[in-house]
This record gives sequence, C-alpha cells and structure tokens, in this order.
Amino acid sequence: MVVKIKHELEKCIGCGACAAVCPDNWEMAGDKSKPLKTELAEAGCNKEAESSCPVNCIHVNEE
Ligand code: SF4
Repeated sequence: MVVKIKHELEKCIGCGACAAVCPDNWEMAGDKSKPLKTELAEAGCNKEAESSCPVNCIHVNEE
C-alpha cells in the first residue's frame, strides 16, 4: 500500500496545527506548512494532521 499526501497550499492559512500534531512529516515554511514526504508506506500521524486542519487542505489517500 502507498499512502499519498496532498496539500492544497493555496488554501493553507498557516495555523500550525499539522506541524503540532504530526511533526514527523509536517513543518512550517514561512507562513504556510509543508509535508516533508508526500508518499509514505503508512499514514501514521498524517491522519491526525488531516483531521486537525481547520480548512481541510490536507488529504491522505491510501491506495
Ligand atoms: S493545519 Fe492546515 S491550515 Fe494549518 S498549517 Fe497545516 S495545512 Fe495549513
């Protein structure tokens, strides 16, 4: 299984929630966040990042 992370950068308001709940794969870069990896073997805390994002701009798809 491959887990793909999609981040809609234009929607990101830079609140920092994703980096707070999932520092393994999210960091802040200026006034936005960014995923360190967009393809992973397991979703891990990216699921928490997805559910904690207030503007729903993180999408975790397990394929
Ligand atoms: S939780 Fe969402 S809005 Fe907040 S920094 Fe992360 S991606 Fe951006």
